[in-house]
Amino acid sequence: MNFYDPLKNILKRGAESEKYKYSLIISAVTMVHICLVAFFGVCRLYLMMFLNMGSVALYLICLLAIRQGRDMRGVFYSTYLEIIIHSFAATLCIGWRFGFPQYVIALVPFGYYMCHALLEGRRRYTIATLLGLAAFASFVSCRVLSRYVGPLYRLELPGAAELGVYIFNTFCNFSFLFMVTAIFLVEMQTATNQLQKQNAVLDAMANIDPLTGLYNRRSMHQFLESAARPGEGSSFCLVMCDIDDFKKINDTYGHDAGDYVLKEVARMAREQVGEYGHACRWGGEEMLLIIRGDMELARRIAEAIRQEVSGFTFQAREQAIRCSLTIGVALHRGGDTIDHTITHADDNLYYGKRHGKNRVVTDPELNAG
Ligand code: GH3
Ligand code: MG
Ligand code: MG
Repeated sequence: MNFYDPLKNILKRGAESEKYKYSLIISAVTMVHICLVAFFGVCRLYLMMFLNMGSVALYLICLLAIRQGRDMRGVFYSTYLEIIIHSFAATLCIGWRFGFPQYVIALVPFGYYMCHALLEGRRRYTIATLLGLAAFASFVSCRVLSRYVGPLYRLELPGAAELGVYIFNTFCNFSFLFMVTAIFLVEMQTATNQLQKQNAVLDAMANIDPLTGLYNRRSMHQFLESAARPGEGSSFCLVMCDIDDFKKINDTYGHDAGDYVLKEVARMAREQVGEYGHACRWGGEEMLLIIRGDMELARRIAEAIRQEVSGFTFQAREQAIRCSLTIGVALHRGGDTIDHTITHADDNLYYGKRHGKNRVVTDPELNAG
């Protein structure tokens, strides 16, 4: 916890909740006007005091409108107009040197921000630009006005107090600029984070099989293509696994139990493959594993999966289910196509199915048999 944390939390809340954000901005503007009511009251400049009291009343109505979830455009245009009118009034009453017209400068980024948030289409940039030009024209007009029309009231303040008022106005103006910019940045960061999260979800949906959590066939093709790319160097093996008599499991224990068995078998395969490669659901209850390594490593992993599955008792709805896997392993040789190696692994798998199931079949074993 440091000085920055509470500020960050306020801005984060502002970025997440529209009502909170607009209330924050309008409350800050109201506070400034309350200070000005006090200041003009002390100076006995009652015209400006009443004008600022009117501004406070206007902003209290705005805060009420925000609370009630009213259309924010009314609040935005009222704020814009009030700040311009106040600049003119202050310049006419007490002159240029107290720095009141500088609030108009902060209207430019505020205007763009609000138009972007509240309006639609290209129109919002046109309106923001027109409002920005109006702010510029008001600022210059105040300066010109102060040159030709003398202030209506002479504020006789000690030198330091005049500087103090100028610094107060500059401080409020910079704080306002800081607040609008910071809210915009935090909002942008929040939107980017959300987008990244959504992208990760979409990515997972595009690449992961929802039932088993394994990679789907689409992403396996990408792994296969990159592994088989010439110059990739290290050899790899393909391991095709098929659950034995899965139809019977479905028929005997129900489809949900079948799903559960499939999920658990997939988990075991994924854990055994670990960092040696990737496991995907090739279709139905078939899984294809790509193992970066030689035949010996692939056979060892396939055998570990087979043993774990055949030694496990799956518990579904208080029923004990046993099942086994038949697995075909093929080494991808440089010059072979991926399809050739997949067919090769498939042939070994079906050799295993024909010869008793629950076994791992590799070429040497096939040749020996
Ligand atoms: P074999 O030992 O020859 O492989 O026999 P098998 O019964 O497993 O035969 P086969 O591979 O042809 O049948 C696969 C069955 O798997 C058929 C299908 O109903 C079932 N199956 C495929 N996908 C799913 C799934 O997502 N969930 C469940 N519960 N069953 C599935
Ligand atoms: Mg099967
Ligand atoms: Mg099958």
